[in-house]
Amino acid sequence: MAERGRFAPTPSGRMHLGNVFSALIAWLSVRAAHGELVLRIEDLDTLRCSAENAEILKDDLRWLGLTWDAEQPDQSTRSEYYESILDRLRGEGFVYPCWCTRGDLKNAANAPHASDGHPIYPGTCRDLTEEERAAKAKVRAPLWRLRVPDESIAFSDGHYGPYAENLARECGDFLVRRSDGVYAYQLAVVADDGAMGVNQVVRGRDLLSSTPRQILLYRLLGYPVPEFGHTPLLLSSDGRRLSKRDGDQSLSGILSRGYSPRDVVGGLAYLGGLLPEPAPAWPEELLPLFSWEKLPREDIPLPAGLFGLG
Ligand code: GLU
Repeated sequence: MAERGRFAPTPSGRMHLGNVFSALIAWLSVRAAHGELVLRIEDLDTLRCSAENAEILKDDLRWLGLTWDAEQPDQSTRSEYYESILDRLRGEGFVYPCWCTRGDLKNAANAPHASDGHPIYPGTCRDLTEEERAAKAKVRAPLWRLRVPDESIAFSDGHYGPYAENLARECGDFLVRRSDGVYAYQLAVVADDGAMGVNQVVRGRDLLSSTPRQILLYRLLGYPVPEFGHTPLLLSSDGRRLSKRDGDQSLSGILSRGYSPRDVVGGLAYLGGLLPEPAPAWPEELLPLFSWEKLPREDIPLPAGLFGLG
């Protein structure tokens, strides 16, 4: 089957070098396999995202030579579709309404916490009766949670190798729709990748721990589970993850210092182990050099001097 990958950027600001790095690896991984790429703007968080940022993002990807073959409608326009997906999960009893507030969860005595710090949902609303639900629904709208099984969900990441998580013990029943009607990233990403037949997901290592939740959703919805390949993150010189708020490492900072798209791509290819030193290159020119084995597993500090950084 032909490889189908995707770019799924969030237009909450100009891309930083780490965003471009994982987009470059996603592009190379799919193109090296003669596959196709789908672009999808992930703008569920309408407070942080804007149509203007989405346009800038697409211009930046084109400028860098990171081409795509198909576009999926922006996530902010797809509520009806996500509703139909939630209906399917509801019909099977895989999700349930929950009225617990953040405060309730914080106050739950000795609530265990997941590795990312969120309290593991104690199941308060999981087995309410229909009467109890009807009574609570009169007071306010619920959020929706997915019931997770007490079993290990395992997969082999194309770059980081075997990874497994017991969702009941390590994550808890997780959010699929907020009480204000906004769908959660976990639901939308699987619904959209499933609808597009995406079979290769390449993205930053910060999303590795979301993958077992997404695999559960793929299974429940009957979509084939894609291959996953996570990329190391780029770090600023003081060891922090890059943020879109740091102007210096964003594309606008890089552009203002006069770098060309081939400088950006070639510098990132050097960091990814594809070039022995930073030298200008288009993504296309890197295709014969690309392999996942060359990519480091550890996160990559940006060396002083590269891209004019201090
Ligand atoms: N929209 C997410 C982000 O920009 C990426 C989602 C994904 O690749 O699954 O961080």
